Formats: sequence, structure tokens, C-alpha cells
Amino acid sequence: MKLTFLGAGDMFSFKQGHNSVLLEFDNTNLVIDFPESNCQQLFKLGKALTDIEHVFITHLHEDHINGLQLLGNYFRVYAKRKPVLIFAEELYEELWQTLRAGMEPSMTGPKTLEDYFDVRMAGKAFTIGHTTFELVQTHHVPGMSSHGIVADPYFYFTGDTSLDRGFLTSLPDRIQTIFHECHLQNDTLKSHTSLAELLSLPENIRKKLVLMHYHDLYADDQARFELEQKTGLRIAGPQSIFTF
Ligand SMILES: [Zn+2]
Ligand SMILES: [Zn+2]
Repeated sequence: MKLTFLGAGDMFSFKQGHNSVLLEFDNTNLVIDFPESNCQQLFKLGKALTDIEHVFITHLHEDHINGLQLLGNYFRVYAKRKPVLIFAEELYEELWQTLRAGMEPSMTGPKTLEDYFDVRMAGKAFTIGHTTFELVQTHHVPGMSSHGIVADPYFYFTGDTSLDRGFLTSLPDRIQTIFHECHLQNDTLKSHTSLAELLSLPENIRKKLVLMHYHDLYADDQARFELEQKTGLRIAGPQSIFTF
């Protein structure tokens, strides 16, 4: 399995793409979250939007879904198939309400989410090819459904979350890498995870961490390198590649 960062920036990132990764495995692919910035990043990788086969949505903040309307429309114009769109079942209504104004009206009558996407609502897990992805409820904003995913034994990808020390310490040893969101700022944003919190984790967990979803100050390679030297933690770059 190959994981490529399409962007590692937070909601207010302008220098690099918003946080999203492309997974390539079992002769197919899965993109986790679909910000509009993915379009340019995929182009840079020599991929067409119509190469995308599956998309998983972690939650409904704008920086994680603002490319979906474009993706759905692009497929309708340029492809003979629909991309598979996967999300926790409770997100269905709110996701459609978010997209509806731009997607329901059409030249051939009202459209539904299913006209654009092969919708797959996930309960506890979903399987693509030989790989199962387990949903993990995260603690992001009260009242908002948000999920990370575990691809056992390869990785846990948190999506947006405040620190869940209990879950991280309960992960089996065999999970190789933890892609964890971190704003990398000194201030504390209660809906996200701070660097100080991650540095307080036991060493066996710190060694697995790769930080993502951070401030534009660290879009610069040198700034990330210096912080990695100072903290001993790895930080994903905008086009970092990990293989499992
Ligand atoms: Zn976010
Ligand atoms: Zn968020």
C-alpha cells in the first residue's frame, strides 16, 4: 500500500493543500477527504480526477469536503462511471444539505447525491479489495460526527480530533504508523491537538507518529526539518509518500 499526502495543511492553509491523502492498493485507490486543493495536487502527480475510485469523508468541515461538488460534476461530464463516496451513515442528510444547492438543480431535472456518487454508508467499517478500514469516532467538535480510520496493521489516520490518549494507548503494537493531526502552534485549540500533548505521549507511541493538518508556517521544508530535529517527531510534507 502506498500513501501519498495531497496536502497536510489546516483549514487556513493557503501555501499548501488542505489535509488529504491518496492511498493506492489492491489495484484501486482511496482518497481520504476531498478538499478542492486536491485537484491541483493530483494534477502535479500526473493523475486525472477520473482516476479516483473511492473517497472517504472524515467529517463535514469545509476544508475536508469543499472539492466534492467539483468532483461529482467532473465525473458526470468526463466519465462513464461514478466515484464511490464513503462516509459514516449519520452524515448522509447533512452532507447532502451542504452540497444540494449546487448539485440538485440540473438541465435534465432534479438530481440526488446518488446521481453523482456511488454512495456507500459505513457503519463500523468498510472493505475495499482485500483491505478493511475500521471507523474510529474522534473527539473534534461537540455535536459533530467525525471519524478517523484504522487500516490494520498499517496505520491509524486520525482526521481532525482533540487528543484521545486512551484510544492511542489502546492501539495494538502491530499498527505501524499513526498519522495524527496537530496544529503545531503554541496556542491551544480545544477542537484540535497541540504539539505539547503529543510530546507527552509514551515513547512507543511518539515513534509511530507522523503529524499532519498543520499551520502554513510549516509548509516550508526547512521549518518542518527544524521542528522535527527539536521534537524528535516526524511531520508529513505536502507530497510525502509512505509505503506499507
Ligand atoms: Zn480540518
Ligand atoms: Zn475539522
